[in-house]
Amino acid sequence: MGFGMTETPPTQEPAITRFAPSPNGQLHLGHAYSAVFAHDIAKETGGAFLLRIEDIDGDRALPELIDQYRRDLEWLGLEWDEVPSQSGRLAKYDVAAQDLVARGLLYPCSCTRKEIQAIEPRIGGDGISYPGSCKGQHHDPAKPAALRLDIDKAMREVGELVWTDEVAGAVIADPREFGDVVIVRKDVPASYHLAATLDDAADGVTLVTRGADLFSSTHIHRVLQELLKLPVPHCHHHVLLLDDDGKKLAKRRGSPPLAERRMRGDDGLMLAEQLRLHKLKGGNFSE
Ligand code: GLU
Repeated sequence: MGFGMTETPPTQEPAITRFAPSPNGQLHLGHAYSAVFAHDIAKETGGAFLLRIEDIDGDRALPELIDQYRRDLEWLGLEWDEVPSQSGRLAKYDVAAQDLVARGLLYPCSCTRKEIQAIEPRIGGDGISYPGSCKGQHHDPAKPAALRLDIDKAMREVGELVWTDEVAGAVIADPREFGDVVIVRKDVPASYHLAATLDDAADGVTLVTRGADLFSSTHIHRVLQELLKLPVPHCHHHVLLLDDDGKKLAKRRGSPPLAERRMRGDDGLMLAEQLRLHKLKGGNFSE
């Protein structure tokens, strides 16, 4: 255990970290790396490691997977405290969203993905970047709508913001590549950005650890923290596991899910140790 040159956390305070999977598929090696990463920082600093199930992804969330996740984490030898799943927190998301609505920071948008693609097929950190066509327009209340953040107005309100990544250092929040991002979805009273930001604050998370692929989401989260007067955790965006060809390890590339490894009798503790070693060495991950 310990930290090497590639993933060195200067954090000495007891760190409250979390692993926050969305139950829409089985856990894979990349998830195991993330979980071990967050777990070890918490344990080594005398903090706490939390498990939060991010199950607001509509029909993609599969409840039967959640128990499997717990068994996977146990198999890796991890210990955690479980905090409430996102589906149990919808009322809190709604309160925060209504506050933003009352301040004129959100506006309804009933555009479909197809319509947005037709207007501006620019890809930002969150997929297609929205050009703001519904802003200031009359909205038919009978039509289902998402609520989007008026990012220009939000930035005027909060001014320049900085967040700290333990690898990248001080980062100036630059959320504009997202366009007017969705804060409340058509089907649930939150998007990932709103839910994760509120939950990290409610759960007392002091160090948000997640893969480098989510780095740019943190720009939005920082703006939401400021708008909603939430504490600002440090972040550590860790490297993604790459296979021998330097490609991101993913299920389509034939890496068996953790549950399959567990059920065929692989040693989870050994896998966790391999991942720790990888954290020290960096480079590609060979099994
Ligand atoms: N629920 C997200 C996922 O499974 C993780 C988000 C986060 O760590 O902030 O990708």
